Amino acid sequence: MELRDLPSVDELARGLDDPLAIEAARTVLDRAREEIRSGADPGDLPGRLAAELRAVRAPSLRRVLNATGVIVHTNLGRAPLAEEAIAQVVETARGYSNLELDLTEGTRGSRQDHVAALLRRLTGADAALVVNNNAAAVLLALAALGEGREVVVSRGELIEIGDGFRIPDVLMRSGARLVEVGTTNRTRAKDYEKAVGPDTALLLRVHQSNFRVVGFTELPRLEELAAVARRHGLPLVDDQGSGALLDLPGEPTAKESLAAGTDLVCFSGDKLLGGPQAGIVVGRADLVERLRRHPLQRAVRADKLTLAALEGTLRLYLDTPERIPVLRMLAQDTATVRARAERLASLVGGSVEETVGRVGGGALPLAELPSFACAVEESLAAPLRHGEPPVVGVVRDGKLLLDCLTLADTEIDEVAAAVSAARHG
Ligand SMILES: *Cc1c(COP(=O)(O)O)cnc(C)c1O
Repeated sequence: MELRDLPSVDELARGLDDPLAIEAARTVLDRAREEIRSGADPGDLPGRLAAELRAVRAPSLRRVLNATGVIVHTNLGRAPLAEEAIAQVVETARGYSNLELDLTEGTRGSRQDHVAALLRRLTGADAALVVNNNAAAVLLALAALGEGREVVVSRGELIEIGDGFRIPDVLMRSGARLVEVGTTNRTRAKDYEKAVGPDTALLLRVHQSNFRVVGFTELPRLEELAAVARRHGLPLVDDQGSGALLDLPGEPTAKESLAAGTDLVCFSGDKLLGGPQAGIVVGRADLVERLRRHPLQRAVRADKLTLAALEGTLRLYLDTPERIPVLRMLAQDTATVRARAERLASLVGGSVEETVGRVGGGALPLAELPSFACAVEESLAAPLRHGEPPVVGVVRDGKLLLDCLTLADTEIDEVAAAVSAARHG
């Protein structure tokens, strides 16, 4: 086919009773022109127009099967929600809700009331506040407590957690001034002590998230930092990042942090907690109140669907935390994962390989979760990503590994069908 053989936009779209047909025809013809110029044949144009119209109408944000072995995968939407949390979102979204209405008194209520009591119970804190995400929680805490004054942070904790979230930048944006203490690998309580002056607003501890300094290292225990803060009448704020609510070896819980003497703890809702994207602040009531009253709070508040999903998740912590997918995946025994990989391998004719899964989301970066994958041809990586539902695995050593740590038993048949479609598509 040559350029002059191409139909016009109107000719191609003619006969289609579809308001999007003209724009789609233009897209198809632009692509066809490029292909002809590069020596390719654009093929069946009406067929491509129909495909383009289907693609325009298909949702862009879709369910994906996570075969990466990374449980809290930021690119794949972090924590899958528990059924109970989903049900509460659906119920709340369907109609009106008591988001800001006190049903007992018939007066205006606070959207924070729906989760505050649960958060207090689960962390032992006096007060709690939920915002849009943990980056916003940290920003709000620094703005409300540190604006125009100094915030003391260890040089070993001036991290970037990915996608440009850098602690020094957030500090600057909050209006607080950063005072760095210690060195990259070693910071002592007396480094903080020496840095405290008349302009100091607070001491900030930041979870090192997805990086670790190993070897000749030292960081003061929270208790020591809390003692310094108390001596000077300053708040100690702990950015915990992942936010474990239950004991996991190596990840401190918010409750432990508060018990060690921190005044405020900030953490994410969609990392180890296993809920929706949210930033949670728990701690001293007077400080939480200062955050709540700060003008930024209104700009970073959580919406009703977030609160519904968070309440639905937190309620499971009261008696059935194993129903939370992130916690369930973390607690699986290796034999179960292996059996899943074996079943997948027998369905698709792949081989079973030992792998190492990760928690992800900046939590327990060095933890290696023993896992098993089904290995298939590397050439399937792209077609599986383009499939329905898309399947995302890991390419390694010339093979595509479909890690079964992050696949549910009920997803194995879907993955097998996707592999077969990818081979024959
Ligand atoms: C992940 C993380 C954040 C940001 O949390 P989001 O919920 O992604 O905004 C902040 N601080 C630390 C230490 C983190 O690990």
